Amino acid sequence: MLESILLSSTILIAQLPKPDPQFTQLKTQLESYGFKVNLAIPPSFRLPNQQIDFQRRRLRKPYGVLNAANKSIWINPIVFDLGISNRVLIHEATHAAQFCAGNSNIQPIGLDIEPIKQAQPFFKRYVDTYSQAVEKEAYAVQTQSNGFALVTSLLNQHC
Ligand SMILES: [Zn+2]
Repeated sequence: MLESILLSSTILIAQLPKPDPQFTQLKTQLESYGFKVNLAIPPSFRLPNQQIDFQRRRLRKPYGVLNAANKSIWINPIVFDLGISNRVLIHEATHAAQFCAGNSNIQPIGLDIEPIKQAQPFFKRYVDTYSQAVEKEAYAVQTQSNGFALVTSLLNQHC
């Protein structure tokens, strides 16, 4: 009995996530601009310095990462279980648009939108102002009600 429970939970974990159509559409768009989108636990990168309390939390793997050096995006499969996969992909796609806009250097695009107040700790945690600026923009797009359409047009415009 225990064995069969263990086996079925193993199968559940092994199942590939089933992204919704918007996720798939955005992933395909990113791939059309030469970004590789991996649905896998991100490898360890040296990420920008963050405030101490966030560093402690960083023992957990991030939900999403864009490695500009090889145009690779990692989406941690846990986001499908958490129901935030679209938001996380929109966030990383915003960094991709920043990468295109900055000629292969992630730079703030200069969008005239603000992230919701609840998102502030997530970008204010970064120590340097450059990281704060690019993250602020990604959180702004991610938290817009039209975030999906917005990031799609940003990619069209800059990539
Ligand atoms: Zn980010």
